[in-house]
Parts: sequence; C-alpha cells; structure tokens
Amino acid sequence: YDDRDGMIWMDGALVDWRSANVHLLSHAMHYASSVFEGERAYNGKIFESRKHSERLHYSANCIDFEIPWTVDEIEAAKYEVMKANNLTDAYIRAIAWRGAGDDMGVSSARNPVRLAIAAWEWGSYYGDAKMKGAKLDISKWKRPSPETIPVHAKAAGLYMICTTSKHAAEAKGCSDALFMDYRNYVAEATGANIFFVKDGEVHTPTADVFLNGITRQTVIGMLQEKQIKVHERHIMPEELESFEQCWLTGTAAEVTPVGQIADYNFEVGALTRDIAQSYEDLVRA
Ligand code: PMP
Repeated sequence: YDDRDGMIWMDGALVDWRSANVHLLSHAMHYASSVFEGERAYNGKIFESRKHSERLHYSANCIDFEIPWTVDEIEAAKYEVMKANNLTDAYIRAIAWRGAGDDMGVSSARNPVRLAIAAWEWGSYYGDAKMKGAKLDISKWKRPSPETIPVHAKAAGLYMICTTSKHAAEAKGCSDALFMDYRNYVAEATGANIFFVKDGEVHTPTADVFLNGITRQTVIGMLQEKQIKVHERHIMPEELESFEQCWLTGTAAEVTPVGQIADYNFEVGALTRDIAQSYEDLVRA
C-alpha cells in the first residue's frame, strides 16, 4: 500500500501518498500506542462518520492520550481526503498514534500525538464468501478480560491475536476466525461482530468484552424496526450447533453471511439475505 498515487492527510496537511512515512523509532511501532478507525463512504457520504470520529477519541483516551484535533476537524479532514483522491465510494482509515520523541522508554508521555487519514477503494472484505457464506475457524486465542486491556477500544494492541488467529484460519482454508472470550462465551471474529438466527429470532453475544461495532448497533436497530426479536446474551460454544443462520457485521465486512464455523453448518437463509440487503439500502440511502 505504500507505492501508489494519491494524497494522505497527516497532522493537518495533505501529503503525497509515497511520502506519508513515520520514523522507525515511533513509540507506536514498539509499544502499540495507536488507535484507529475503519469507515466506509457510499455515494460520497461516510456512514455514521461522527460515531467513528468519536470512537477514535474514546479509544485514544483508553490508552492515555488526547487527539489534538476535535471531532469536527476530523470530520472535515476525512472529506478533504476523499475529495483530494476523487473518491465517492471508499474505505477510510484514520489512525492516531504516539510518534517519535526524545525518549525510547515505555512511557509515552513525551512523545507527540500524531493523526493521519487515508482513503482508498476497497471492495468486499470477504471476497467470494460475501454471499456464499464465509467459513470460520475457531481461534485458540480468547478475547481478554477487561481487567487485562481496554477491551472496548479500537486499539492496535488488541489486534495482535486477531492477526495470528486469522493466519491460523487462513492456513485451514477459512476466511476468518471466531473468538471465544476469557469466560468461554462466543465473542466476535477478528474484525467483525457475529449474529445467529434460531426459530425466527436473532441471538448475538453481549458486547461486554469486545468492540460494540457501529454496524452491530445499526443491524440491531434494523432488526428491531422489522419487529424481529433480538437476544443480546452470553452464548455458549455448545449452542453453535442449534443455530440455523449466522452472519458477521462490520464496516469492512458489512453484512457477510457465514456458511460454516468449524464443523457446524449454517444456511444463507432469507433473514440473512434480507438484513444484508437492508443494510446496503440504508448505507446508500
Ligand atoms: N470487532 C472488531 C475486532 C473489529 O475490528 C471491528 C471492525 N471495526 C468490528 C468488531 C466491527 O466494528 P464496526 O461495525 O464499528 O466496524
């Protein structure tokens, strides 16, 4: 992604894509002091844009820094980047981090806070799986306890187990991995939340120890509007067998049907297709 044409917003100015570099001795590079957002624009409008900018601030606060740009300034910068790159349908990546300073220790108090925003075209996150149903592996790693790490932040440090879990899943021919949490309840995938259908009702894990995705909240609202009962509750792995349909939600993933988790199979049923279509209609409305 480093060698291409385009402009990236960095610390208040647009810079050429190829020169959007940071120093090797940036605190974030060594100690994961970075937080980010993944957003999508449809027909020139970023879906739930402010919520993403607010979450970026929240995530930064969770790991002890303050972004030196207001939500309004971040909003303006995102649209500036889209315009500079001539984009109407795009994936937007905002990232804030602790840069290089006069100290290389664990404390980041003396390292400057940086902010950058890039945007580019990014199609379907799960490729072909999108409508056929993705195949998921179950990760050997567990989502950590809130006593271990700020679990609701979208912070780089939390993605270490996502990457290793996704690698293991890919090695088995799967598109993604499903995590259990430290209590062994079903949690989420490596970059998306999960929903199940049984007897016409929807079940989704309570977002008490993982990211309560903006797409997840949107889909819950859509289901309620359609008068479909949604149970947010703790789900045991043994229950996977009893569900008929399953889908993932996320900004990148949108609504992606799941066809298989380990040895359990799910149909890409009418409700899954309806929710995927309704989500697409909503973001493009
Ligand atoms: N969980 C994780 C770990 C994620 O990375 C994402 C993507 N941001 C999600 C859930 C879904 O969040 P959202 O719907 O806000 O994109």
